[in-house]
Amino acid sequence: MWKPAEKKCKLRSDAPVRLSKAEILQRQLFVLLKGACQVCEQFKPLDVPHHAVYGIGVKDDRSLVNICLDCHRFIHGFGGYSKLDKTREEIEAIGWANNEEYLCE
Ligand SMILES: [Zn+2]
Ligand SMILES: [Zn+2]
Repeated sequence: MWKPAEKKCKLRSDAPVRLSKAEILQRQLFVLLKGACQVCEQFKPLDVPHHAVYGIGVKDDRSLVNICLDCHRFIHGFGGYSKLDKTREEIEAIGWANNEEYLCE
């Protein structure tokens, strides 16, 4: 008999947060002002900040990370995290640190 595959989702105790457009814009500006890419730590042309916590049903608008065009291209495309200096977990930690910094300003 056919049985659906067991779902192994990593559930966070706190549900992902989606914010208003205005709030996201403010947060994007906040991380952009850091200047350097927070993944490769170089001053390269920046992209729209990356959601460190992303994926179906888990994208969290609080987890924005300042990112350059090159790093962003790797994250979402060919090469993936293997091309970067940091792991997905490390980048997520940066996103959460940015969130705390933003809220404490
Ligand atoms: Zn970079
Ligand atoms: Zn991204």
